Amino acid sequence: MINGDTIKEIMYRARETLKNFGDETYDIDAKVLLKHTLSCDDMYLVIHSNDILNSDKKQEYFSYIERRKVGEPVAYITGKKEFMGFNFKVTKDVLIPRPDTETLVNEVLRCSNDRRSLRILDLCTGSGAIGITLAKMLSFCEVTMVDVSMDALEVARENAIDLMVDHRCEFMCLDVLSDLSYIDEQYDIVVSNPPYIRSDVLHTLMNDVKDYEPSLALDGGEDGLVFYRRIISEAEQILKKDGLIFFEIGYDQAEDVADMMKNKFRDIYVMKDLGLNPRVVRGSRI
Ligand code: GLN
Repeated sequence: MINGDTIKEIMYRARETLKNFGDETYDIDAKVLLKHTLSCDDMYLVIHSNDILNSDKKQEYFSYIERRKVGEPVAYITGKKEFMGFNFKVTKDVLIPRPDTETLVNEVLRCSNDRRSLRILDLCTGSGAIGITLAKMLSFCEVTMVDVSMDALEVARENAIDLMVDHRCEFMCLDVLSDLSYIDEQYDIVVSNPPYIRSDVLHTLMNDVKDYEPSLALDGGEDGLVFYRRIISEAEQILKKDGLIFFEIGYDQAEDVADMMKNKFRDIYVMKDLGLNPRVVRGSRI
């Protein structure tokens, strides 16, 4: 047993604690939480590995380890998550941005021309990670971000301010399932990562997800497809003719979503994520 109070020894103990509690990413989690406690980078930890950690910091660090130990995601403990190289604030009101969603954003970027002023609609925006990254990368675009949760929109607004694109972002609080007709503009691009988990499998998700992330952001209704059905049914109202739509989808939903789109869209494509699961469906409005 290592009992000392140097940074190196304390991090070792934290790592062992997380490992014993079944945290599969114990190594990285122990390090990220220590960097958060000390507001420092990797290099600092290496250079100061033999320094003694003062007792206040030690206590703070182990309070984070206790939270992680019972399954709270690291991003909710630190209050931030990196997405496409940008730092996003996250709270329990929003889903933590996933690496898989970078596939969606990359596909929108690949199909967009930065020299043209684009009007983009991001439905079910949550933390704003998708819309705000697009606003960062496409210097002439304007993004309208929609969410049913006022608390989520507040997080998105803060992220837009922190990343200095708030002057090109608009925020609308409405329920995509019932109020979509309030959107009285046709956009060039509609992008959405809606809730898409079937209600009856929500309870089978990893504890870290189901016990901490908002079910409002995950629950896609009885067949997991209610948001796609609704958005596609309103396509003419919210998307210009020849405009592009991009959906993130669950690994087994590509066929169903593409099928729903086929009467209103052409050039329907499915893209895979880094794990080679179908993750994005795209189409052009007829
Ligand atoms: N990809 C998320 C998960 O696996 C779900 C995201 C969503 O429902 N939009 O937890």
